[in-house]
Amino acid sequence: QSKPIETDAVIIGAGPVGLFQVFELGLLEMKAHVIDSLPRPGGQCVELYPDKPIYDIPAVPVCSAQELTDNLLKQIEPFNPTFHYGEEAQELKKLEDGRLYVRTSKGTEFLARAVFIAAGVGSFQARTLKVPHIDKFEGTQLHYKVKNPSMFEGKNIVICGGGDSALDWCLNLVGKAESVVLIHRRDGFRAAPASVTKMKELCDQWEMQFEVGQVTGFTEENGVMTEVRVTGADGVTRRMPMDHLLVFFGLQPKLGPIAEWGLKLERKQIAVDTARFETNIPGVFAVGDINIYPGKKKLILSGFHECALAAFAAADYVFPEKRILLQYTTTSPKLHKVLGVE
Ligand code: FAD
Repeated sequence: QSKPIETDAVIIGAGPVGLFQVFELGLLEMKAHVIDSLPRPGGQCVELYPDKPIYDIPAVPVCSAQELTDNLLKQIEPFNPTFHYGEEAQELKKLEDGRLYVRTSKGTEFLARAVFIAAGVGSFQARTLKVPHIDKFEGTQLHYKVKNPSMFEGKNIVICGGGDSALDWCLNLVGKAESVVLIHRRDGFRAAPASVTKMKELCDQWEMQFEVGQVTGFTEENGVMTEVRVTGADGVTRRMPMDHLLVFFGLQPKLGPIAEWGLKLERKQIAVDTARFETNIPGVFAVGDINIYPGKKKLILSGFHECALAAFAAADYVFPEKRILLQYTTTSPKLHKVLGVE
């Protein structure tokens, strides 16, 4: 067991707001470690709409969500934050000496003077298939993500969903699997039109099948799922033999462990004041989409403002003896030094 990492600040969430928090802390000479359960930075922007243009970032007339993330990463480079991707922050508690203890799903531990929760709408998890008891097959015959595509070779595959993941896996597995059936609740898709056209061509050539309907049950023999029951638009339930069921219903954010940390919540968001963006636990701040206060708007620019004020407030815990003055990045020699632009 290695020793906990001691740091000024821990930031939970590497969305746009968590990234900008690094910058505001850096200007005030506070070092940060950033944790995200996703394998990469960018939060909702990169997970949900990387190529969409954003028009309301001040002084940036237009940029894609991925560009915004790349620019934020560039902007915080001088402060050299440490990123911990693929780790969910699971525990947060205040210790007797006033410091804050954070532990992740991988067992990484931190001791920090201040913690910034920039967890957005929560950590993203696959939306599950709501069929009683089918969850016991998760990881063996029921899959919400594909780790090892070769396990589907020569097998009978049923794929559920109407988005890009569902369509991409149909196109990928046709010819490798024994059979591929796509099931979607309606004859309309939220996937790239070219993939939909290709899928329909494959159906016309009898390479795969598409059925409108929903999986409503399954048959089990000796602990193995042998078929699913599919209820069609006509209300009739049909049996469909299969070896593997792949479900792509998209990701949904879950507040997750944050709900257990003793924070005051309002409608699943963390209540903060608007002078410091501090929670009911001293030294724990909440910024961006995760927080709530009168007049809150879930916009990136609001999150950026919150980061600045929260950083000044956190200095009370990190540098209790120091008086922190507001300085301009344009004119302050001290800020030029921390930014490395002397
Ligand atoms: P998020 O971007 O949600 O990032 C939070 C991060 O925290 C995630 O990466 C998550 O994995 C991580 N996390 C959560 N819990 C944990 C945990 N326990 N441990 C570790 N990591 C955790 N806003 C605008 O201002 N302009 C727009 O034009 C605009 N367009 C949008 C279009 C769409 C389609 C959507 C969905 C949103 C749009 N938004 C827009 C809103 C904007 O994306 C959000 O306001 C912004 O992403 C919030 O940033 P955040 O950093 O607070 O949270």
